[in-house]
Amino acid sequence: MNGKVVMDCVDAAYVSIRQHADEIMVLDQRIGDGDHVFNLIRGLEALRGIRGHIEALDFQPALKLAATKVLSTVGGSSGPLFSSLLLGMSRACSHLNGDPRDYATMYAAGVQAVQDRGKTGKGSKTMMDVLLPVAERFSELADREPSVPVILAELPKEAARGMLATRDMLATKGRASFLGERSLGHIDPGARSSEIMIAAVCERIGQAYR
Ligand code: ADP
Ligand code: MG
Repeated sequence: MNGKVVMDCVDAAYVSIRQHADEIMVLDQRIGDGDHVFNLIRGLEALRGIRGHIEALDFQPALKLAATKVLSTVGGSSGPLFSSLLLGMSRACSHLNGDPRDYATMYAAGVQAVQDRGKTGKGSKTMMDVLLPVAERFSELADREPSVPVILAELPKEAARGMLATRDMLATKGRASFLGERSLGHIDPGARSSEIMIAAVCERIGQAYR
């Protein structure tokens, strides 16, 4: 694996986020300040702007460079959080040899880094309500499911479940927490964008198995 794979995933996430941009903007206008999708697009475009550098690197330094770029380009809460995801994954990706358990471990390390930075787990109506259940499902599947395409088909379903669950949660972290009870009934924008990117990346990686 090398930086080319990283950029393939960035491209897939970018296309899908652009396709859903209006929807994500409206979600963040309801319980935030409306900028979430623009933060994401800025970060993904910045990564596409240094494509040559990322693609020239091995997987680990490519993820690390991507994390640094996102941190320096994207503001808001989500910039440092997504940067932590990439950095956490880069720290845990040295033993990849095609075993799904290694990828599950790498992803879980990224999610742990987000949790360390954002100081929240499940239930506070954030992207963690997607990232954490997907990490748990990934390691559970990686332990018993030999088919990578099956794993890649299951993870987006778990992401969608987590995203939908945020609708009935009270926001206790981030900007949406200022709304208190008024945050109820709305899907969290970061949960939706995370779900969209997870689905896009699984689809993109799945193409290699067809
Ligand atoms: P801001 O809230 O600063 O405007 P964004 O709009 O880019 O930043 O991102 C908002 C998203 O960030 C929220 O929808 C939520 O999913 C996520 N978020 C906010 N605070 C946290 C946190 N402490 N931990 C995890 N995710 C968080
Ligand atoms: Mg916002």
